[in-house]
This record gives sequence, C-alpha cells and structure tokens, in this order.
Amino acid sequence: MHILIVLVLLLAAAGFSARWAWWRKKTPGLAVLCYHKIGTPPSGSKLKDLWVSPEKFRRQVKYLLDNGYKTLLFSEFLHAWKSGTGLPEKAVLITFDDGYENNYTAAWHILKELGAKGNIFVVFNTIGKANIWHNPSSEPWINMATAEMLLEMKESGIIELGSHTMSHPHLGALEPENAAWEMRESKRQLEALLSAEVCAFAYPYGDGAYLPAVRAGALAAGYSLDFSFTQGKTSLPWDRQKGPLDRLFIKGTDNNLDLVLHLSRGASRL
Ligand SMILES: [Zn+2]
Repeated sequence: MHILIVLVLLLAAAGFSARWAWWRKKTPGLAVLCYHKIGTPPSGSKLKDLWVSPEKFRRQVKYLLDNGYKTLLFSEFLHAWKSGTGLPEKAVLITFDDGYENNYTAAWHILKELGAKGNIFVVFNTIGKANIWHNPSSEPWINMATAEMLLEMKESGIIELGSHTMSHPHLGALEPENAAWEMRESKRQLEALLSAEVCAFAYPYGDGAYLPAVRAGALAAGYSLDFSFTQGKTSLPWDRQKGPLDRLFIKGTDNNLDLVLHLSRGASRL
C-alpha cells in the first residue's frame, strides 16, 4: 500500500516537472514578453494560444510591477543599449505582434491603469483592416487597430510601435529583395504615419530571423532592434552580431507559474 502511494507521488512529481521547467537554472538577461491578442477567442479559433484573457493579462502586468520589473519602450531599451548606461536590473519589454484592435480596446487601457508600458509590432497593409494572412477556417478574421488608434496610443507615451512587415509573409520563403522591400517599405510608411522614427522590427513567425540574407535586409532597412520568435532571454549587453533579440511567447493557457519561469528561466516548459 505504501509503495503504491510513493509511486503515485513520484509519478505526480515527474508529471509536474515535465510540464513546468522549475528545475532549469535561472538565466540572466533581457526578458521580452510576446503577446498577440487580448480577449476571448472567437468560436472557430484553432489558434487559441494566441489569445490571453484581459483578466490574465492584467494579473501578469500587475505581477511584473509588484515584483520590481520596469517595463520599457523600444527606444528606452535602445538608448540604454547604445549609450552603455545600463538597464534597470529587472528590465522587461512587453510586446504585441500584429497590431490587433484589442491591443487598443483592452491591453492599452490595462497598461495605462496599472502604469506600465508596451510596444506593438504592426503589419502596415492591415492597419484598420483584418488579419487576412490567417486562413479564416483556422483563425477568424478580426479587426486590426486603425491608424487613429495607433496614433492615440503612441501619443499617450506608453506605447511605442515597431514594424512587422507590410503583409506578414514568411520572409525566408521570399526572394531576398522582396523580403528586404517588406522590411524597408513598412518602416518608411509607418514612420510617415507616425512622424517618428521606427527603430524596431519583428520577423513574422520568426521566419528569416537567422537567415543571413533576410537579416541583412532588416539591418539595411535601418532597424536598430530586431526581434525573433525564439523562446528565451537575451544575455546583456546584447551582441547584435550574434542574432536578434529572443522573446518569451505568452500563451493563453499559461498560468502564473509559467510567467515566473519564463522570466527567471527563459522557458516554462521542456
Ligand atoms: Zn505576427
């Protein structure tokens, strides 16, 4: 009987350790949280992990602030990196990919209310339209933020915008000159819309982030910061020659322990 209990406990411990990577070594470096949509997934969504509920997002931002994390804008990180003045000990970047309307209707208000800052990578050709790069049978089309919303968020001083290309392609599958155009043209058009420099870029799907021909296009376009979709933290000071900045994809199913492990270990799972 006792052996059975011990066996059950051992199995439970093994299951817990397989699901949560608490046993990993703590990793120093920059944590860049990667969100997509704040809200409830519509019926028909097969990509539910891209959706984080407003309640959960609020809890996560509150956790950061309550635990001494300082949320930075792209330009604040860039300034600290370039000037070598150093970052706050617990610096974190909250980023959103794609530029959904719910970043304005939900996330921005939560950030404002709690006193945190965030950054949004927008797909220029879909501003005020829909996420038409998704197959609607797996992920329904929803509204993207309009130009007015983006400008209002930027003017608030707590949101900074970066580029996520013109049309959200797999950059690695394009001819290098077409990939370079997606990165260059989206920077140019976004800067014209915002009347401000756009210093940051995120590779859709992370595709091309480690392909020299694609990354050369990002750097030639004039981005100072480029972000991959690779899970992890980036050791500081960032060595840009080694590759783009890593990120921590926050899934809709993640709980508080996942967030703690992301921030401390650079991963919450195997
Ligand atoms: Zn994307």
